[in-house]
Amino acid sequence: MTQPKNAIVTGSTSGIGLGIATALAKSGMNIMLNGFGDAGQIEQIRQDLENSYGVQVLYSDADMTLSTEIEAMVAQAETAFGQIDVLVNNAGIQYVAPVDEFPTEKWDAIMAINLTSAFHTTRLVLPGMKARGWGRIINLASAHGLVASPYKSAYVAAKHGLIGFTKTVALEVAEQGVTVNAICPGYVLTPLVEKQIPDTAKARGISEEDVKRDVLLKAQPTKKFVTVEQLGDASRFLCSDAAASMTGTSLTMDGGWTAQ
Ligand code: NAD
Repeated sequence: MTQPKNAIVTGSTSGIGLGIATALAKSGMNIMLNGFGDAGQIEQIRQDLENSYGVQVLYSDADMTLSTEIEAMVAQAETAFGQIDVLVNNAGIQYVAPVDEFPTEKWDAIMAINLTSAFHTTRLVLPGMKARGWGRIINLASAHGLVASPYKSAYVAAKHGLIGFTKTVALEVAEQGVTVNAICPGYVLTPLVEKQIPDTAKARGISEEDVKRDVLLKAQPTKKFVTVEQLGDASRFLCSDAAASMTGTSLTMDGGWTAQ
């Protein structure tokens, strides 16, 4: 029997990260969860994944803005699991403001969480993956890693940067059995997006349903939100042998947004 694989998924206490952690657990991987939230709810998520899929699930509250905490999280996972085979860099935040009014601390936080944390996790897990000749790194970029929208300068810059980082690392480890890919979702109805809806409705004087259809899904030709289950299945595919020749790529899952 082959050894179960072990995965770290950053920002997996909610939304897309939780969807991906669930899909990977379902495929038999042990999981290191990470992110913020209510301690009781996170413990419930951890236990539910263990009980549902018979895998080992750990949790780290490491703050992705701090390299020392990222180092501790990776060390904790390596000690418990023995090795890390799959890394999903998913933690991310958003802030919307015109660039000349953009709070500098928000810019710094977005760069740290959405971009620099992926550098730290990658540099820490890569030596083991290279030594074993197998690894999968998946970076959650965005349609905003390929195209821009106004008032999202930090997010768009970080996500474009993450795609550049993905390509570079993919080339560096191409001969060593490690693939590095980005997934670029369009809008997914997670807490990150839900938080924007009431304010947008108020600002535009329209209903929350109208915000979803006429603002959020305006650029998404399918007029449907991408689901966390679809992103989980795409991640499972990227971890499979069928995806061994896919590296350095950006897998768009944006309902046709960037085809326009
Ligand atoms: P979410 O807000 O539901 O989840 C974000 C996760 O990151 C949570 O677990 C949160 O606790 C964690 N997190 C936030 N700050 C952290 C920090 N400093 N340290 C550790 N963890 C931290 O968001 P989501 O929509 O699931 O987004 C996940 C990723 O997908 C992000 O990178 C986001 O940019 C990207 N994305 C989201 C959408 C969308 O429409 N929701 C679209 C494209 C890309």
